[in-house]
Amino acid sequence: MNASELAAALASGGLRIVDLTNTLSADTPTLRLPDPFANLIDFSLEEVSRYNEPGPFWMHNNIHTGEHIGTHIDAPVHWISGKDGLDVASIPPARLVGPAVVLDFTAQVAENPDYLVSIDDIKAWEAEHGSLPENGWVLFRTGWDRFSDDKEAFLNADDTGSHTPGMMAETAKWLAEETKISGIGVETVGIDAGRGAELDPPFAAHYHLLGNDKYGITSLQNLAQLPATGAVIVVAPLPIVGGGGSPSRVYAIVDA
Ligand code: MN
Repeated sequence: MNASELAAALASGGLRIVDLTNTLSADTPTLRLPDPFANLIDFSLEEVSRYNEPGPFWMHNNIHTGEHIGTHIDAPVHWISGKDGLDVASIPPARLVGPAVVLDFTAQVAENPDYLVSIDDIKAWEAEHGSLPENGWVLFRTGWDRFSDDKEAFLNADDTGSHTPGMMAETAKWLAEETKISGIGVETVGIDAGRGAELDPPFAAHYHLLGNDKYGITSLQNLAQLPATGAVIVVAPLPIVGGGGSPSRVYAIVDA
C-alpha cells in the first residue's frame, strides 16, 4: 500500500483511527511521588484573552504542565541510565510510528493489581502470535484505563504505596536488550508498577528500557479496541528541546 491508498482506505472506512489518548485537564490523573521527592505540576489552562479587551476577536491561553502528565512519552534522558541518550525532541519520527501489538493481562490484574508481567508471559504470547515486531510497540492491556478519569482509583494508593501493574525487572531487561522494539505502552500512570521502587534495580522498566534507547508511553486507553497484532501506532510528542518527556497524542490505525 502507498500513502495515497492509506488515505483512500481512511476515507472509505476500510481503516479506522482509534484514539489511545486521555484528555488533558486539571483533572487528569498524574503521578504522585512520596516525600522527599519533588512532583511535577498538573496541567492547567490560564486564560489570556477570550473575545474581550485583551483579545477582542480571539481566545487563547497559556498552558502550564509538567512533562510527564497524562498520556505521555518517556524519552531516554528522563532516566539516569539514559542520561547520555536522546531528549524527546531528538527521537526519530520513524521510531514513533510503527506496528503495535497488544498483550492482554486484564484477567491477571483483576485478580492482583500488583501483577508483574514475566518473560514467560511474553514468550507464551509470541508462541501464539509471532515475535514482537521490529520498530514496534508492545502495549500492555490491563483494564486500568477504566480509572482514567478518577485520580484516586488510577493511583490505587494505600499506606504501602501505589498498587498498579507493571513488569518484572528481568522482563524489562529482556525487552530492552533482546528485542528490537521501539518501546512499550501501558494504561497506568507510569511504565513501572506502582511498587516499582521495590524492584532491582528500582523502577526497572525505566532503567532498562530508557537506558537502551527504547521509549515508554503511559496512560493509554481504548486498547480493548485494538487487535492483538496488525495495528499501526502513531505517537506524537511535542518536540521539547532538552525535554525528558512530553504529553503525546497517540493514535492507532486498525482494520475496520
Ligand atoms: Mn514519564
